[in-house]
Amino acid sequence: MIEWLVVGAGVAGSVIAGRLAATGASVIVAEQGGDSTPGNDLFEALDVTERVRSTPLVRRVDGGPLVPYTAGVGLGGGSAINGSLVSLSGPFAHDHSLPLETDGQIVRATHNGQRIDVWSAYGRHSSANPLLGREVDRVLIDGSRCVGIRCVDGSEVTARRVVVCAGALGSPLLLLRSGIGPATVGHGVQDHPAVMIRYRRRAGSDRAARAISAVERCGPLQIMRLDRVSAIDDGTAGVIVMLMRPQSFGRVAIDAAGVADINFSLGSSERDVLELADGVSAVLAAGLDGDLMATPSPGEEVAWVRSELAMSTPVVMHPTSSCAMGRAVDRLGRLDGVDNLFVADASVFPRIPSVNPMLPTVQLAENLVDRWISAGLV
Ligand SMILES: Cc1cc2nc3c(=O)[nH]c(=O)nc-3n(C[C@H](O)[C@H](O)[C@H](O)COP(=O)(O)OP(=O)(O)OC[C@H]3O[C@@H](n4cnc5c(N)ncnc54)[C@H](O)[C@@H]3O)c2cc1C
Repeated sequence: MIEWLVVGAGVAGSVIAGRLAATGASVIVAEQGGDSTPGNDLFEALDVTERVRSTPLVRRVDGGPLVPYTAGVGLGGGSAINGSLVSLSGPFAHDHSLPLETDGQIVRATHNGQRIDVWSAYGRHSSANPLLGREVDRVLIDGSRCVGIRCVDGSEVTARRVVVCAGALGSPLLLLRSGIGPATVGHGVQDHPAVMIRYRRRAGSDRAARAISAVERCGPLQIMRLDRVSAIDDGTAGVIVMLMRPQSFGRVAIDAAGVADINFSLGSSERDVLELADGVSAVLAAGLDGDLMATPSPGEEVAWVRSELAMSTPVVMHPTSSCAMGRAVDRLGRLDGVDNLFVADASVFPRIPSVNPMLPTVQLAENLVDRWISAGLV
């Protein structure tokens, strides 16, 4: 029998599969997507349609409209489409094998300037066996033991242990569809609330139009400068103001028919809105090298931030904390009352990391495998 079955070959799933396989254990990874070559920069990558999924729709704010929410699918998950930005300042320093390069003051997960998705860094050259195109519908429970998975196509795979790494939206939805943890799973989902100030670069600007050209940390905010905001450069540039220590919490749930019902409740903490509005005012006061497009008038920043937060932003999708450690899972990622079932991805962060989440997710997955080894599970 297969020893470990990992659901999802994204950032965490790639680390978990590669590390478990390195111990000699038999590992299968069920991944809903495929294995096409990812694009290099953020917007090239988002143009590779089979790598991107924008469903289920979500509400970003209480009472807001349902809007698309982008996630990466296929081997590497989010790391095959994201900005590859890495913050070196925490939240914890754990060993990892993700290659990093510095370009000016930006650190990215690249090798010779090319994106390295986490599957390529951890899983591709391991003995872990990916089953592609397998969307998992639920985990199979026999008494109090998890014994495998059932896919949407009706196929079943059994294993001694199952690790759910379907991301901070996918993991709670999968557990809830399986009838597991409605009192704790899905509660407290977070994201980094962010708004983009768009402007038209001045004609004759000879700046090379890079997707992300600068990143700086200003107290609770991260300010990202984009010289273009899509794969094709139409002269539009942007500054993203992102709140890294939000106090707002939302919920991932399913309705009676099993349909996803997701609300991030961004800005439900007034402090979050005020801190973002302060950041917007500061960026506008410092001035931008171009003509502003649809930005707030002085004094209107708070209302503008609220209305922008309701809509999907094109580049900040950092969901975490929907199966929080200490609330939904224990220190090994186990769910109360179900043996042989673990959750191990960005959903288990107790609070959203106050930095870009990919590297912390890699480190979290490394840390969990170390804990399983110490606990004699591997
Ligand atoms: C556009 C974009 C830009 C970003 N930019 C950055 C950045 O610059 N820096 C940074 O640090 N972070 C960035 N992030 C966030 C980062 O990518 C995520 O924090 C990270 O991917 C989370 O890892 P994860 O393992 O929890 O989930 P994911 O990497 O999303 O992996 C989940 C995997 O599970 C699979 N899956 C889901 N449901 C199922 C199912 N039912 N059956 C089978 N498979 C399933 C998915 O296909 C996916 O492969 C960005 C994210 C996006 C979307």
